[in-house]
Amino acid sequence: MTSSSDSVFVRSRNIRQLQPSATIAVTQEAARRRAVGEDIIDLSAGEPDFDTPSVIADGAIRAIQDGKTHYPPNAGILDLRAAAASHLSVLSGGRPVNADNIVVSTGAKQSLFNACFTLFGPHDSVLIPTPCWVSYPQMIHLARANPVMVAGDPEFSLKVSVEDLEEASDANTRGLMLCTPNNPTGAVYTKSELRAITEWASRRKIWVISDEIYRRIHYAPGPAPSVLDLPDELLSRVVVIYGASKAYAMTGWRIGLTLAPVEVSQAIAALQSHVTSGANHPAQYAAAVAFSDERVEGEVQNMVQQFQRRREIVVEHFREHLPGFEFVEPLGAFYLFFRVDACFGGDVNDAVTFCQRLIADGGVALVPGEAFGDDRWVRLSFAASEQQIREALKRLVLFINNLRGAKAGERAGVARQ
Ligand code: PMP
Ligand code: GLU
Repeated sequence: MTSSSDSVFVRSRNIRQLQPSATIAVTQEAARRRAVGEDIIDLSAGEPDFDTPSVIADGAIRAIQDGKTHYPPNAGILDLRAAAASHLSVLSGGRPVNADNIVVSTGAKQSLFNACFTLFGPHDSVLIPTPCWVSYPQMIHLARANPVMVAGDPEFSLKVSVEDLEEASDANTRGLMLCTPNNPTGAVYTKSELRAITEWASRRKIWVISDEIYRRIHYAPGPAPSVLDLPDELLSRVVVIYGASKAYAMTGWRIGLTLAPVEVSQAIAALQSHVTSGANHPAQYAAAVAFSDERVEGEVQNMVQQFQRRREIVVEHFREHLPGFEFVEPLGAFYLFFRVDACFGGDVNDAVTFCQRLIADGGVALVPGEAFGDDRWVRLSFAASEQQIREALKRLVLFINNLRGAKAGERAGVARQ
C-alpha cells in the first residue's frame, strides 16, 4: 500500500495526541546506523544486555513440549500468579499477597495501560511526577484523561513531595503515577516518603499506580522500598506494577503484572479479555520459574552486582572528567540522568539536538530528556558491557569538551567584535 498526498487517513480522536515512544525511536535509530556500518555505542535502551537465565528459558521449552500452546487463562496461569504472589510476599517481609489480586499481561507496559484505562477517563486528571517514563502521559491521553505534570525537586533527586502533589491537585485529580526506582533518574523513594504519599492519596481518594518494575535493581541491601511495605489500610486505592522484564533479563518475553484490589483486577481482566486474551502462554511458564525457582536468585543477584559495578564506573567518570555536571545519583534501575544545558551554544540549544549531534559526531546513542519531560537533561543507560560503557564515556567527554571549546570560541569571537 502506498500513501499519497491526498491520504484518506484522519487520525481518530483516540490517538490525536499520540506520539510514538521516543526511547524506542532512539534505539531504532542506533540500530539503523549500525546496520549501515556506523560505529555506534547504544546506551539508549532501557534493557538488560544479559540473556535470560537458561533455567527460566527451560520452563518455556518444557511448556511448549507439554502442549501449553493453546489460549492461556485470560488473567494468567495460576502457577505464575501464585509464584508472583509468594515472591512479592517474600520481598515485603512476608506480608500476605493473594494470587486473586494479580493479573498477568503482555509486559509491564500493558499492565500500566490496563490500569490507566480501567481507572481513569474523560475529565479525570492524573498527576505525573516529572521527569517520568515516556509512556505515562501517552497512556493517560489514550484513556482520554488529563496528565498533570508535577516537576520533581532538583534538590531532592528530582523526586516529589506531598506538598508538590497537593499543590498540583484539584477536584478532578483521580490518580498519581509513581515510579520507584525511577526511570529515567534512578532515584528511589524511601519507605517513609512512600508512606506520606500514600497517606495523602488515601485521604484525597486518589488512586496510586506504583510502578515497581525496577524494584530488584537496587544499590543498597535488599529490594527497593515498596508500597507493599506499608499497612493494608493504605493500599485500598493502590495498584502495583511489577514484572519479569528487568531483573530477570526477560524483556522479549513480555510478561508484566498488576496487583490490585479484586474488583479492579476483575475489570482489568475483562478489558484484557477483549484485547489480547492473555499473555503468551509458554512465556508465563518461564516467568513462573523466574519468580519461584531458587536457582534463579543467584543469577539475579549476579546481574544486579554487575549493574552496580557499571553504575560506579559511570558515576566516578562523571565526577572525575565532567566536574560540575549535575546528575542524579542513581540508587536503583540502570540509568544516569544528567544535565547538559551548561554546554548549550551555537546550534545545540536543547537536549534533542545534543543527542542528535552526539550520535552523528560522537557515535553514542543516548535519550534526550524531552522524552521524559525536561529537555535540559539526557538519559544514559548503563545496561551495557563495561567495555562499551568506558568507550562511550570517553566519546561523551570528548564531544562535550568540543562543544565547550566551540562555545568558548564563540564567546571570544563576540568579545573581539
Ligand atoms: N515501566 C517502566 C518505568 C519502564 O522503564 C518500562 C520499560 N520497558 C516498563 C514499565 C515496561 O516494562 P515491560 O518491558 O515489561 O513492558
Ligand atoms: N523502558 C525502556 C526504556 O525506558 C524500554 C523502551 C520502552 O519501552 O520505552 O528505555
